[in-house]
Amino acid sequence: MRYLVGRYHEIALKGRNKWRFVDQLKSNLRDVFADFKLGPMRGEGPRLIVELPDEIDEEVAAERAALLFGLQNFSLSRPVARDIEEIKREAVAIARRHRNADSFRVRATRSDKRFALNSMEIDQAVGAAVKDEIGLKVDLENPALVITVEILPDGAYMAAGKLPGAGGLPVGITGHGMALLSGGIDSPVAAHRMMRRGLRLDFVHFHSHPLVSTASREKAAELAEHLTRYQARSTLMLVAFADIQREIVARGPRPLRVILYRRFMVRIAAALARRAGARALVTGESLGQVASQTLENMTVIEEAAALPMLRPLVGMDKNEIVDQARQLGTFETSIQPDQDCCSLFVPPHPETHANLDEVRAAEGALEVETMVAEAVRKVEIVRMKFP
Ligand code: ATP
Ligand code: MG
Repeated sequence: MRYLVGRYHEIALKGRNKWRFVDQLKSNLRDVFADFKLGPMRGEGPRLIVELPDEIDEEVAAERAALLFGLQNFSLSRPVARDIEEIKREAVAIARRHRNADSFRVRATRSDKRFALNSMEIDQAVGAAVKDEIGLKVDLENPALVITVEILPDGAYMAAGKLPGAGGLPVGITGHGMALLSGGIDSPVAAHRMMRRGLRLDFVHFHSHPLVSTASREKAAELAEHLTRYQARSTLMLVAFADIQREIVARGPRPLRVILYRRFMVRIAAALARRAGARALVTGESLGQVASQTLENMTVIEEAAALPMLRPLVGMDKNEIVDQARQLGTFETSIQPDQDCCSLFVPPHPETHANLDEVRAAEGALEVETMVAEAVRKVEIVRMKFP
């Protein structure tokens, strides 16, 4: 019998909301293991415990558990009777399975104080048994193997250490947002950060097909698919943007093109978000990174959005964002060549300090509402699922 023992990261909004946090985590856990039949789940102090069926191999179980936002760390544990001889026997078995470790320590926690030995006494007794039986060296500071023992009311749960969890808050607990996913490096990192803060996301991508190839669409789909692992189900909305761009190019002033594209994007994204029940937009903007991301331009763009815009990367350097993209595993997809819709028909010196009155005057020449409604009407919806 094997259990996933997950330990909570920060508890959302603390206190009386703890049950919501735990319920959300339970439901997300069921989702991420949806292709297996999990046993019942229970909370035990700062832990969530669930029996794993035998068909899941360790690697898969660990990989899936590491996707769960809301866990600080977790173990794949086996329970034995609350008997020190049983505990020693299992500790020796764990050490035997980790032959390549050249040192170890035991780390016991006794949440059930009715157990006769305290945690230090357990550490010592079990440590001595492993040392005698296998001859493995004890290293309290820097052990290659940690044998964890958790004394709970129904047994001693034992594992080879703790694996790092994804941190953050369970997806869904803080609400539902719409991420603007470009196919570039930044936006998937931004989406991931907001999911980590508990936001369930839909994705929207604007493409200029048939003016350019379908490469950006395919990249956005691949990125959305990757991000879906953190929330089990996603909706990707693909918006055809070429007609709107043609209009802007025909009727708008050249230096304002990018600002106008962006204002249309956030209008359409907000309309789609509202329809889906999402309450905020998420972008990968970072202050000063490119011409459209000056404070003035971001302000003018945001003015067109009917929902708050969240920019989790606003204070990050590009190299920090790239590091995160590599860690997340989206970097290689993001750097595949494509042609972003916003680079089409863009002048060499776009406006960097847009003025809202000028932008509004330029939009006076456009059928803004009709153009937005038309794009929303023609949206293409792709549903994704993990596992
Ligand atoms: P990214 O690396 O995410 O593409 P970027 O550095 O290229 O960002 P911009 O092109 O100014 O910066 O885009 C800023 C943000 O606007 C993006 O992070 C994304 O959230 C959104 N965005 C840009 N283009 C698109 C698009 N074609 N579809 C959806 N969202 C987009
Ligand atoms: Mg981009």
